[in-house]
Amino acid sequence: MKDKKNNNLSLDCDNKNPTKKTLCSLTSQSLIQEISKSVNNFKKSYSRQEVGRVVFSGDGVVHIEGLQHCKYGELLEIDGHLKAIALSIKEDQIGAIVLAEENLVSHGALVHATGSIVEVPVGTQLLGRVVDPLGNPLDGLTSLDTNKTRPIETSAPQIIDRSKVNTPLNTGIMYIDSMIPIGRGQRQLILGDRHTGKTSIAIDTILNQKGKGVLCVYVAIGQKATSVSWIMHLLLEAGAMEYTTIVCSTASDSAPIQYIAPYAGCAIAEEFMYSGKDVLIVYDDLTKHAVAYRSMSLLLKRPAGRETYPGDVFYLHSRLLERAAKLSKELGGGSMTALPIIETLSNNLSFIPSNVVSITDGQIMLDPELFNAGLLPAINAGLSVSRVGSSAQISAMKKVSGKLRLDLTQYKENEIFAKFSADLDIHTKIILENGKALVELLKQDLHNTLEVEKQVCLLYLNLKGMLKEIPLHRLQAFKRDFLQFLDTSFADVLKSIREEKEISFDSSLKLDEAVKRYLEYYFEK
Ligand code: ATP
Ligand code: MG
Repeated sequence: MKDKKNNNLSLDCDNKNPTKKTLCSLTSQSLIQEISKSVNNFKKSYSRQEVGRVVFSGDGVVHIEGLQHCKYGELLEIDGHLKAIALSIKEDQIGAIVLAEENLVSHGALVHATGSIVEVPVGTQLLGRVVDPLGNPLDGLTSLDTNKTRPIETSAPQIIDRSKVNTPLNTGIMYIDSMIPIGRGQRQLILGDRHTGKTSIAIDTILNQKGKGVLCVYVAIGQKATSVSWIMHLLLEAGAMEYTTIVCSTASDSAPIQYIAPYAGCAIAEEFMYSGKDVLIVYDDLTKHAVAYRSMSLLLKRPAGRETYPGDVFYLHSRLLERAAKLSKELGGGSMTALPIIETLSNNLSFIPSNVVSITDGQIMLDPELFNAGLLPAINAGLSVSRVGSSAQISAMKKVSGKLRLDLTQYKENEIFAKFSADLDIHTKIILENGKALVELLKQDLHNTLEVEKQVCLLYLNLKGMLKEIPLHRLQAFKRDFLQFLDTSFADVLKSIREEKEISFDSSLKLDEAVKRYLEYYFEK
C-alpha cells in the first residue's frame, strides 16, 4: 500500500521490532538508493576453483585435461607457482603457453584456473626502470615499489571516448616533422629492411621528448640483449631514462614471453594515458612478435594459413594498436602514441607488413638504397605518409613545409630525366640545384634532434629560395653555424616561433635580416 502524501511505503509496523521500524521509515526513493548501494558494494566472496592435470609438456606449451570452463586468455597456475595462459580451447583439452622455462613443468602437474588474466605492475615507479614482460626488474636495482597492477589485455577505448588527434608529437627529425608529421594519439608505423635505421628513429624520438611532458615506453621484442643494454645506456646518458620505461624480452627468451611483451608494455603505457598524461610507446619489433606467435600456434597444433601464420594473426596486432588513442576531455585528455616497427625483406610488403600498414595511421618507409648512399635518415618520401597530416603541425611548420614534398618530387623526376640529357634548360637546372640543396638540408645526424622552431628557420631558407646561394659541400657546416648564430643573435625570433607557433610578420622580417647578415658574414669568411 502506498501513502500518496509522503510517498512512504506504509507497511504494518511492529514498533517492538527495530528492523521493521527502520523499514517503515524508508521512502521508496531511499529504498532504491539502499538497494543500488548494496549491489554496487557487492564483492564476490567465492572463487571458482577448477583443477586439471598436465597431459603433455614440451617446447613452452602444455596440454591440460579437466578444465571444463577455462576461457581463452585465462591465467592458469601450474603447481601453484608457474604461470601459463590458455590459448587453445578444445572440447577435451586446453592448450596453454608457459611463462617460464618449459622444462620446469612435469607430466601430471596440477593446474588451477584462476578466472583472471595476467597482470603487470604499473605506475610512475616504473619510470627509469628496465623490466621483463611480467614486471620483474632486470636492471639490478631495488624491487618495484608499487601495488598497482593492470591486466595486460583490455579493450581499446570506444569511439565516443576518443578525441581528435591535433597536437604534434615532434620527433626532432626534420624530414618527419615537416613531411610526415605525427600527432599525439597516432599510430605511425616505421618499416624497412634490416639495418636501415628503424630503431634509431624511434630512439631519437624518445630523446626528443625531454622536457616536453611525454612519458615513453620502449618495448624490445626478441632483440639482442646487447642492443637493449646499449639503448638503456644511451637513454641514461641523455637523461631520458627519467621519463622512460624499458620492457625487455630478448631473443633468448621463450616465445610466450616475447608474445606477451607488447601487451605488457601497452598496459604500463595505458596506466599513464588514463591518468591524463601523454605517452609514447615503441614496439621494436612486431615482425618478431608475429614470428613468436606463429611458433606457439604451430606447437599448439593450430591450422596454419598464409605464410604459415595462423588465421587470427591480424587480430594479434589490431587489438594491440587499437589501444593507442587520444582520450576525450571527460577521460582526462591523455594520449598514447604508438610507433610499431616492422622489418621487411628486400622492401617486400608481404603478409605481416601489409597487415600492420592497414592497421596504422601512416608509415615511415626506410630505403636500403638511400641508407647505402649515406642519405640519412633513409626515408623514402614517396612511400611514406601520415594520414593525420598537417593537423598535427603548428602553423609555422605548415607554412614552411607546404611545398616541400612537391619540391622533392619535382627534383626526383628531373634527376632521372637529367641522366639522359646534358643540355638542360634553365628552369630544370634551377629545380635540380634547389633539390640537391634540399636533400642535403634534410640530412640529419644520429641523436642530433632539432627543436621545431629551429627546423622552421632552416626550412624558411628553402621557402625563400636561398638554399642555392650556399655551396653544396658547405651546407652541413652552414646549417650548424646558422642555428648557433640564431641562438646567440636572434634568440627572440626563435622564442616567438616557439611560443606563438606562428611566423609573425615581425619574425619573418627579422628572419630575413638574420639570413642576409649571416650570408654576408659567411661569404666574407
Ligand atoms: P635492425 O634491423 O638490425 O634492427 P635497424 O633498422 O633498427 O636495424 P638501426 O640499428 O637503427 O637500424 O641503425 C643501423 C645503423 O645505422 C646503426 O649503426 C646506426 O648508428 C646507423 N644510423 C641510423 N640512422 C643514422 C643517421 N641518421 N645517421 C647516422 N647513422 C645512422
Ligand atoms: Mg632495430
